[in-house]
Amino acid sequence: MYLLRDLKGLIGPLLVPRQFPAMLRQSFGLMRTKKLRFRERRDESADIATFVFEPVRAIHWQAGQHLFYHLPHPDRDKNGAYRFFTISSAPGDGQVTVTTRLSKPGSSFKQALQKLSAGDIVRARGPLGIFTFDDPHKTAVFVAGGIGITPFRAILHDLDQRGLAIKVYLFYVNSSEDFPFRAELDSLEARHPDLRIRYVVSPTRVTTEDFQSLPDWERLEFYLSGSPGMVNHYHALLKNLGLPRRQRHRDILIGY
Ligand SMILES: Cc1cc2nc3c(=O)[nH]c(=O)nc-3n(C[C@H](O)[C@H](O)[C@H](O)COP(=O)(O)OP(=O)(O)OC[C@H]3O[C@@H](n4cnc5c(N)ncnc54)[C@H](O)[C@@H]3O)c2cc1C
Repeated sequence: MYLLRDLKGLIGPLLVPRQFPAMLRQSFGLMRTKKLRFRERRDESADIATFVFEPVRAIHWQAGQHLFYHLPHPDRDKNGAYRFFTISSAPGDGQVTVTTRLSKPGSSFKQALQKLSAGDIVRARGPLGIFTFDDPHKTAVFVAGGIGITPFRAILHDLDQRGLAIKVYLFYVNSSEDFPFRAELDSLEARHPDLRIRYVVSPTRVTTEDFQSLPDWERLEFYLSGSPGMVNHYHALLKNLGLPRRQRHRDILIGY
């Protein structure tokens, strides 16, 4: 199951004193159940789909946050009926979307997700998480590994909808050329001159030199999102480069 190291990555940031207010807010978030009405499924790539929900009552969240879903279903496997999913939509969209990888055979949870019919109600707790982009005036580097694109997709759309200039270098690493959301990311890049996207197909990786070649790289804020292995790899790399902890932000998609 989940490694201690991964859990540390998830909970650790909240234990920093300046994050105590966020921790308090999140405790309340966990107590509150939200009802979401399933609307439709959209396929983003060969094995990635977005599930669109309408909140029964308005939900307020910050781009980059996630919800904790409960999807009771018969014949549950050992991983059960609860999952975290980043909200891949922006708050201004008015809908909550879950974008996820659908493997074969896949968990009983994801099979149940695929069996939802329009109008079905799903319950979730939250919003949770501090992987948010609080100072859009700073230039940032986003590194996404596969489905780790979800918080960045929400953040970039949010900035765009709020009419803010996007000052971001996005490195998007994926296992194939079939990058989910590529068309819309390209369209954002075309409209925002300071958004620069580099698509990287693994096993090629983003390197130390790639980071160091960015102008004023020591002053940039780095945001990493993806599987525990991917995030820990780039986090260690940035730590070894001497980048201060306050400029290293992690969103570990535990479960991959
Ligand atoms: C803060 C946070 C945010 C997250 N955000 C997202 C997000 O936006 N999108 C997202 O996709 N995930 C996200 N995750 C991860 C998510 O919670 C799940 O852990 C992840 O999607 C894996 O889902 P799953 O366990 O249902 O397995 P699956 O995705 O169904 O499967 C994973 C692998 O295990 C195998 N497998 C699973 N179950 C079985 C089984 N019963 N029998 C045989 N093989 C099996 C599959 O074949 C596959 O290889 C997030 C996690 C956290 C902590």
